[in-house]
Amino acid sequence: MAAKAKTSARRKAATKSKKKTPRAKVGKKKKAPAQKRKTSRIAGKKTKSSAPLKIIRTVKDMRKYIREMRSRRRRIALVPTMGYLHEGHLTLVEEARRLASVVVVTVFVNPAQFGPNEDLDRYPRDPSGDRRKLKLAGADVMFMPDTGEIYPEGFQTFVDVTDITNDYCGASRPGHFRGVATVVMKLFNIIEPDLAVFGEKDYQQLVTIKQMVKDLNLGVQVVGMPTIREEDGLAMSSRNAYLSPAQRQQATTIFRGLRKARRLLDSGERDAAELAAIVMDLLREEQGLIIDYVSVCDPETLERIPEVEKQAVLLVGVKVGETRLIDNIWLEVKRSRKRSRR
Ligand code: AMP
Repeated sequence: MAAKAKTSARRKAATKSKKKTPRAKVGKKKKAPAQKRKTSRIAGKKTKSSAPLKIIRTVKDMRKYIREMRSRRRRIALVPTMGYLHEGHLTLVEEARRLASVVVVTVFVNPAQFGPNEDLDRYPRDPSGDRRKLKLAGADVMFMPDTGEIYPEGFQTFVDVTDITNDYCGASRPGHFRGVATVVMKLFNIIEPDLAVFGEKDYQQLVTIKQMVKDLNLGVQVVGMPTIREEDGLAMSSRNAYLSPAQRQQATTIFRGLRKARRLLDSGERDAAELAAIVMDLLREEQGLIIDYVSVCDPETLERIPEVEKQAVLLVGVKVGETRLIDNIWLEVKRSRKRSRR
């Protein structure tokens, strides 16, 4: 279920089930009404696929399956996840289902993207729940390899996407995006998907993968999907499970701040520092929230910008107790009323 917050038309377009082509590049976006997610896929909305969900655990078996699908000229979509699936993940699966005839969802808690003092060991896991949800969502394959299958002994090759990963989460989580890019590259090599679906919730991750695909000439189409939110606006995340009831309440400040910044933009404020300040002020009112970053940046390069001329993304990283949460909102300067896309 999602908050009735306003979002962009790109978002609307991305969730429309009859759309023929996936949403345009990050950054080429329109504005739209609220994200609504009233039907729970978890609760049992079945989609097209009627084949039983296949569980694959080894690279060898995965390749064998893919070879077979390729020989049948099937279009393959990949949805990489770390499991403990929620409706945000399932919208990616639904979009993959719509765009391809074979949907492979990976459930792999990737050690390479966790720092030494991060939550790798306690990261929430629920393989049987994930399996049930993926069955209902109409995925074809749940690929859940062991760590040793992805990182066998002697593993020593990594993918480093540089500039775009330096700031924000990259600054506070050194090595994180190197781990992400490496595992995604490996999944691309194993599964050879035609397209891969990622969430805009992890915005820096999405642009990092797009950059990697572009720089390394990978023939994979990257599709970004809008953030799915709880009723009160909190972006769905597996890490929300860590929050105590009080922290869960405090965490709602993040999206309230983002919306406030967008309202300020809509009222005519263009100055990035002012837009960031209004979010920070609200976050600072909550005891127990530690701000990591609040930044207005270019949606494609993620460079900080002094003012919003046309489009921007406002990125937020916050610690609620020990739990790191991230979120973002699209900012777009409205033209005159007549010409506005809203
Ligand atoms: P994770 O399991 O957290 O690594 O996420 C797997 C994929 O799901 C990534 O592409 C995320 O961006 C995406 N995702 C996570 N949370 C949400 C959400 N609330 N809405 C949409 N996509 C999401």
